[in-house]
Amino acid sequence: MTSSASRGRPDSPRVVTDSAALSQVLRKARTGGKVIGLVPTMGALHAGHLSLVRASVAACDLTVVTIFVNPTQFGPNEDFARYPRTLEADLRMLGREQADFVFAPAADQIYQPGFSTYIEPPDVAQPLEGRCRPGHFRGVATIVLKLFHLIPADIAFFGQKDYQQVRVIQAMVADLDVPIRVVICPTVREPDGLAMSSRNRYLNATERRQAVAISRSLARAEELVRDGERCAATIHSAMCAVLTSAGIERVDYVALVDPLTLTDVDPVPDGTMALVAAFVGGTRLIDNRQLGKG
Ligand code: AMP
Repeated sequence: MTSSASRGRPDSPRVVTDSAALSQVLRKARTGGKVIGLVPTMGALHAGHLSLVRASVAACDLTVVTIFVNPTQFGPNEDFARYPRTLEADLRMLGREQADFVFAPAADQIYQPGFSTYIEPPDVAQPLEGRCRPGHFRGVATIVLKLFHLIPADIAFFGQKDYQQVRVIQAMVADLDVPIRVVICPTVREPDGLAMSSRNRYLNATERRQAVAISRSLARAEELVRDGERCAATIHSAMCAVLTSAGIERVDYVALVDPLTLTDVDPVPDGTMALVAAFVGGTRLIDNRQLGKG
């Protein structure tokens, strides 16, 4: 197999840019009964990503991590150009994990000249991120389906951190009969509760302190639900108050929704998903928490 880098250590992953060769190796392994795990990422890896890699390594015989900053899921005024690209550091981190392959294609390998076919995302893509980032899930669904085709895996691992994204992928997989199992892994957080994100590195010290209000607003919602509060408006305003008092003013949404359909709920039953998207300085962060589940 052609690879852009050889194994640095016996147990470090092989970096692959040739998807056909990788696919051939994986198909052969599957025929031999091996279970293949896939962890799609955009790189700039952190402990959240590594938790997905570990979940895959634990459940599968072979693990493939993909690193690709997908241009089609960024809006024209978003951070595609400055999105952190840290391949060397990513590979060092993955070298300490048990992943087998890293697929890190070039953009023109994935989107060849004349590319014009996109996935029309499912209904769960409409609210929340769908409303704030038009076209985002069209790009996500398209790249994920392409990766599913390029890398014949049995199980794909995604983070709850991007909850709506997982629901979009689950719905797409069900609607289009894609033969892959989707596993959701819990959100990994900094010690103060901030959800890990590649975008956290954009935050200055003041913003970093403010950013923790996002997870605090979710914790406040959990506290209220535990105490028996069921009124969506009451929980919603309590969450907004936590954000406002931290100086977070530009809030894209605070939502209390059904975990499957992502439609608003009121009253708020156990199992409701609370989701927040807000700007801290110029950085847009998202987080979520399932309420009343302990
Ligand atoms: P990204 O590189 O941001 O596209 O994320 C790649 C995968 O890692 C997605 O499935 C994310 O949901 C997941 N992920 C990102 N941040 C976290 C986190 N803090 N905890 C768990 N998974 C995460």
